[in-house]
Amino acid sequence: MRAIVVTPGTKDSIRLQEVDPPAPASNELLLRVLRVGVCGTDRDIVAGDYGQAPPGAPYLVLGHESLSRVEAAGDEVRGFRPGELVVATVRRGCPENCLNCRSGESDMCLTGHYTEHGIKGLHGFARDLAISDYRFAVKMPESLSEVGVLLEPLTIVEKGVSQSFKVQQSRMAWKPRQALVLGAGPVGLLATALLRLDGMEVSTVATRSEESLKAKLVEETGAKYVNAKKTPIPTLATNWDLVLEATGSTPIALEAENLAGVNGVVCYVGIYRSEVETSNVGVSLTNLVLGNRLFLGSVNANKTYFERGTEDLVRMEQKWPGLLKRMVTKKVPPERFTEAYSPGDEEEIKAVVQFS
Ligand SMILES: [Zn+2]
Ligand SMILES: [Zn+2]
Repeated sequence: MRAIVVTPGTKDSIRLQEVDPPAPASNELLLRVLRVGVCGTDRDIVAGDYGQAPPGAPYLVLGHESLSRVEAAGDEVRGFRPGELVVATVRRGCPENCLNCRSGESDMCLTGHYTEHGIKGLHGFARDLAISDYRFAVKMPESLSEVGVLLEPLTIVEKGVSQSFKVQQSRMAWKPRQALVLGAGPVGLLATALLRLDGMEVSTVATRSEESLKAKLVEETGAKYVNAKKTPIPTLATNWDLVLEATGSTPIALEAENLAGVNGVVCYVGIYRSEVETSNVGVSLTNLVLGNRLFLGSVNANKTYFERGTEDLVRMEQKWPGLLKRMVTKKVPPERFTEAYSPGDEEEIKAVVQFS
């Protein structure tokens, strides 16, 4: 069967290769993969910056954003039937079974010895048949068969937003009205839709024109689109209740610090390179203290966010029919994987590889 693999640490070693089908253990689902999404993490792995093969394996199968159907189930598996639509979560707990991993919070693992499908020590889903522990798989309604591959990127936002709300509401009376989303890639667009679902006034900033697909999708949710080329980020208002930084750009992340209002929260979900030599740390820290502001970092997501995200995808489909589908701007068969893994044109949002 076909698999998209890399030799971790070797730049541009990505290839389509014939591999043996996986043999599921008694607690595992055998999955017929329908689609995998491609994101910046995949491109970093392809560039050789990141990624780790399973112990003893000469390669790593890519793919952590997936949508599959159950093909078969091991003896211990409960609650799944062949043919059901599922998304497997990405991270599995550490061998030490730390406090958070044993509490169902492997996304908050303390040791760093966790594994991740398609990223770190576990093969991913970019293959015809894959496997997952059934306790880490979430069922999807058939109505999401087109867009379920967006669940994993949505869970990044579900966690960041829900943790921001939890911390804010536990430290004071907090009724947020206005949110600013920086970036209109898949994460920024899904954040915009999620915050609009909950009725917030949302502005979303990116560098594309007002006629671009990204701008249109933002506006269809009722959010305001801001073209950063015309309205630079430092000229924006500085009284946002919640700022969600989803560009992954270090200079923009530093500017984001100054945009939250008194008692506001800035939630960072990007991976930031050390490209900025200096910044006025004293001013930033004083601003943080004097405004009772909260800077919150958030990565990965556990099963609870996948369950909540599934419900929110259904709500988004009902509220804005067809919107999510338009975020998938490229769909290619495995043989044309290079088109999905190389950066797309101006209008690209999410590229997916369709296996079946
Ligand atoms: Zn991803
Ligand atoms: Zn752990």
